[in-house]
Amino acid sequence: MKKIGVLTSGGDAPGMNAAIRAVVRKAIYHNVEVYGVYGGYSGLISGNIKKLELGSVGDIIHRGGTMLYTARCEEFKTKEGQLQGIQQLKKHGIEGVVVIGGDGSYRGAKALTEHGFPCVGVPGTIDNDIPGTHYTIGFDTALNTVINAIDKIRDTATSHERTFIIEVMGRDAGDIALWSGLAGGAETILIPEENYTVKDIVDRLMKGYERGKKHSIIIVAEGVGSGVEIGQKIKETANLDTRVSVLGHIQRGGSPTAYDRVMASRFGARAVELLMEHNGGRAVGIMENKLVDYDIVKAFEKTRSVDRSMLNLSKELSI
Ligand code: ADP
Repeated sequence: MKKIGVLTSGGDAPGMNAAIRAVVRKAIYHNVEVYGVYGGYSGLISGNIKKLELGSVGDIIHRGGTMLYTARCEEFKTKEGQLQGIQQLKKHGIEGVVVIGGDGSYRGAKALTEHGFPCVGVPGTIDNDIPGTHYTIGFDTALNTVINAIDKIRDTATSHERTFIIEVMGRDAGDIALWSGLAGGAETILIPEENYTVKDIVDRLMKGYERGKKHSIIIVAEGVGSGVEIGQKIKETANLDTRVSVLGHIQRGGSPTAYDRVMASRFGARAVELLMEHNGGRAVGIMENKLVDYDIVKAFEKTRSVDRSMLNLSKELSI
């Protein structure tokens, strides 16, 4: 391949820029031209495509968000939209595309490949929820943002002897809640993969209070339900002074951590290698600390399960 494209799609994640930079620099290093598709699949359909040079990706490795912008695009779920996108790519002589995004974006990449246009997926989502890889770009940064917030809220919880409910991102996957809860010393962690009862939460809280604990932190992944409602139920059942903090979009932004920059660089470069080998329909990832690539279809067929030993550990450590 002599010309490839790169796009970011779906929810933005810190480290996407570092991945774009890696794609562009790796390709140019190997005499392959790179085109940026601006605005995800929406920009692909409308033909918002521009050539990128070495300097185009200068000074972005440390920035959150994505310089190529991102979008959600319903039209791309249709065959017409996908074929229109391929036409736009062909107009520029582009022969393959690196798609950086989450599982929705992967579905788009798979569709393009099935229409005969090779694409490689790079896992970019703060949720860490793509099957076939142990890590997705942005997770470490999001986690550290959440920990910073928990630490600050803990100061207030301790001073006022209060129970705090902190709602974090994670609609279907509990990784952010689980890892941040463990790292932040939370008393209880609620994740979408596991049922809970208010009685269990209150029993744990009471046990803590009986041994002299004066405050508690409860982490709730958004997929479990509204932190505000769960806080209200705990307040009514336990007669405790509870406060709720919904962290929201601060979890998606910010300068990527060193780990995210390194992973983004490795994933981005590997994706270019695969395209140079004419391997479309693949996704890159990391397993047991080794870079891997696999059929992108596997990303939908496999189910990803949360690490239950971590949930059990958090229960043991927060007694
Ligand atoms: P993420 O990639 O972060 O999971 P979304 O699920 O919103 O984000 O997907 C991003 C975009 O990918 C969608 O807006 C749409 O353009 C495209 N996409 C999602 N599902 C499909 C599909 N089944 N076929 C083709 N494109 C899809």
